[in-house]
Amino acid sequence: MMPMEKLVALCKRRGFLFQSSEIYGGLQGFWDYGPLGVELKRNVKAAWWHDMVGGHNELVTPPGAPGTYEMTGLDCTIIMHPQVWKCSGHYDLFHDHMVDCRETRKRYRFDQVRGRWVEAKDQKIFVTTTVEADEEQADVQRRALKFFKLRPKDAESLKYDGDFATLDSVQEQEKVLGPDAKELGTLTEPREFNLMFKTTIGALGGEADTAFLRPETAQGIFVNFKNVLDSSRMRLPMGIAQIGKSFRNEITPRNFTFRSREFEQMEIEFFCHPDESHKWYSYWRDRRLQWYKDMGLSSDRLIMREHAASELAHYSVGTADIEYAFPFMAEGEYGELEGVAHRGDFDLRSHMEGKLDPKTKPMEVEKNEHGQPKHRGSGKDLSYRDDLTGEKYIPHVVEPSAGADRATLAFLCQAFSEDEQPDEKGKMQTRTVLKFHPRLAPIKAAVFPLVKKDGMPEKAKEIYGMLKEKMSTFYDEKAAVGRRYRRQDEAGTPFCITVDGDSLKEDTVTIRDRDSLKQWRVATKDLVAELTERLS
Ligand code: ATP
Repeated sequence: MMPMEKLVALCKRRGFLFQSSEIYGGLQGFWDYGPLGVELKRNVKAAWWHDMVGGHNELVTPPGAPGTYEMTGLDCTIIMHPQVWKCSGHYDLFHDHMVDCRETRKRYRFDQVRGRWVEAKDQKIFVTTTVEADEEQADVQRRALKFFKLRPKDAESLKYDGDFATLDSVQEQEKVLGPDAKELGTLTEPREFNLMFKTTIGALGGEADTAFLRPETAQGIFVNFKNVLDSSRMRLPMGIAQIGKSFRNEITPRNFTFRSREFEQMEIEFFCHPDESHKWYSYWRDRRLQWYKDMGLSSDRLIMREHAASELAHYSVGTADIEYAFPFMAEGEYGELEGVAHRGDFDLRSHMEGKLDPKTKPMEVEKNEHGQPKHRGSGKDLSYRDDLTGEKYIPHVVEPSAGADRATLAFLCQAFSEDEQPDEKGKMQTRTVLKFHPRLAPIKAAVFPLVKKDGMPEKAKEIYGMLKEKMSTFYDEKAAVGRRYRRQDEAGTPFCITVDGDSLKEDTVTIRDRDSLKQWRVATKDLVAELTERLS
């Protein structure tokens, strides 16, 4: 598997991803998508939306589904009524508790659902500092010294391990940290905080004006369930989808975009009859896993991890994570791409009645003057009446919840490859190529005149104009044609179209395939049809 540093460097060099606010030193956990990255991520979201929502045929039972179903979409606000987060449980329960073990250098977080401390595998503890892979060691040292609050003369105590600078041994730590080192081998005091970002509505800014940036898009769907039903006259089973930004004040954002503080989710809340919910849960698990495979992730790096009964929330009969073997994970470890959860009627009921999960122990639930929890629901009836059978019930919900950034990162990791190819002079050179699924590739076709004379640029620009109407296309006439091919390989462009002397005589062009490197000639009039077919 390729080293992650190579991908990180490529992403910066070719404009897939930049650190947010980089000119001011960056902001940890926040990432900007560059010119190629924005197209890639838009394609990931568009493929998801098309395959789950827009392209879904509600008249036909899809393979593996218990029956037909309808799908529709929503786009809700990021800031919602604060009561939403009280009834959803996020206000009281979406806390992270963190302790660091100074001896093993492991960080543990408290898992609310399992009720115990679990190792935060993708997080190293406080005596480490993150550095960019392409930074010079001197830079790493400068930052590490600052991070550990050390004097320059202590620099020799630092050890470098991949992209970490660490204080290596207990003795070293004792030497450098002085009296603090007495605590080595113990756990630090647990620290607790809510993962929701707070903000203030209006000019006065009192406690009552506190609002939160949503930590998930799902709640916007639940609180609009009735609106969607009433306005669309849709019948169950049906799913409501949403793509949008979510925010979590993660303890240690890490691993490139994998754990960010601002990220995008692609979520579906699928509403069905309680008796049918198990079948729909199985369907969505398999459907979603297949989608990642169809988009190019290899089966041997994907797993479906069913949660054990002890890990499940009391209302859930099943949750499965779709996980991918990211290159920054240790051998045999996987990172979550998507969770598919059977949520029963928990969410709709909470927004009706304000119930809290009795299994979890809220840190501090606000009480009213009668000593009862203040978290009343909306009081609105969110049940569903089947107009054919007359039955009235609170629907059960299956939730496939995916991260657009994590999926994009997985597609980048999967696509990255290197091979040896001869250059123009026949000398073997390492070629870096991003082998994206054609639907995801940021640029679909690049058009080149072979040389910048004899009418070739004019013809190539004409073809460029024709293609640009239909697909994302790039025009390039700079440098030798071999160099131009390499640049497009690094951008993951599936097809390069070259206009040469014969093009002018016969009105044909050559197409070069990114992966097989095969070249063939087609009539210019057939080019759009040929590319469209190959890209679909
Ligand atoms: P994790 O255990 O990795 O923190 P989670 O179980 O809290 O994830 P969910 O609440 O199920 O995640 O969110 C659904 C999806 O949203 C995840 O599968 C992931 O793809 C994405 N996601 C969640 N948190 C982040 C984050 N901090 N950065 C990027 N994507 C995220």
